[in-house]
Amino acid sequence: MSDVEKTCIFCEIVSRKIPCVKIYEDERTIAFADINPLVGGHSLVIPKTHAVNLMDITPGDLAAVHQSCQRVGAAIMKAFKAPGLAVLQLNGSAAGQTVMHYHVHLIPRLGAKDKIGAFTWPVRAGNPKIIEKNALKIISML
Ligand code: AMP
Ligand code: ZN
Repeated sequence: MSDVEKTCIFCEIVSRKIPCVKIYEDERTIAFADINPLVGGHSLVIPKTHAVNLMDITPGDLAAVHQSCQRVGAAIMKAFKAPGLAVLQLNGSAAGQTVMHYHVHLIPRLGAKDKIGAFTWPVRAGNPKIIEKNALKIISML
């Protein structure tokens, strides 16, 4: 086990050094309740093998995590009679990532009733030339 894994809180959940409210587990992934839920049912899905972020996780673990998200997400929507589900994943502290072990948030959404503003932003039409220029910048890095 690397030093990073020794000090990683989600690795400690995987190794059962610290408890979690477990919702689902398979060979490669675990889903558990977020300790600071944005709304009831807010859950996290993680790979059992430590990976920091989207760029770091193996393709196999990435697929496994998102298959678990599909299964657990459907259960959350049924359990909370939620017509919507937000799937949120942050990379880097600049994006708000606080636990540096890849994780996906599953957050049931009830529409206007749940009063969460975190996933709404003002719609402003972009400048088509700038949109294209920015796309070309990304394409040059692929
Ligand atoms: P993020 O900002 O995407 O890195 O979110 C990390 C999430 O992990 C937060 O929503 C925390 O509430 C959650 N969290 C941190 N420690 C624990 C823990 N021991 N058990 C469950 N959730 C946790
Ligand atoms: Zn870890």
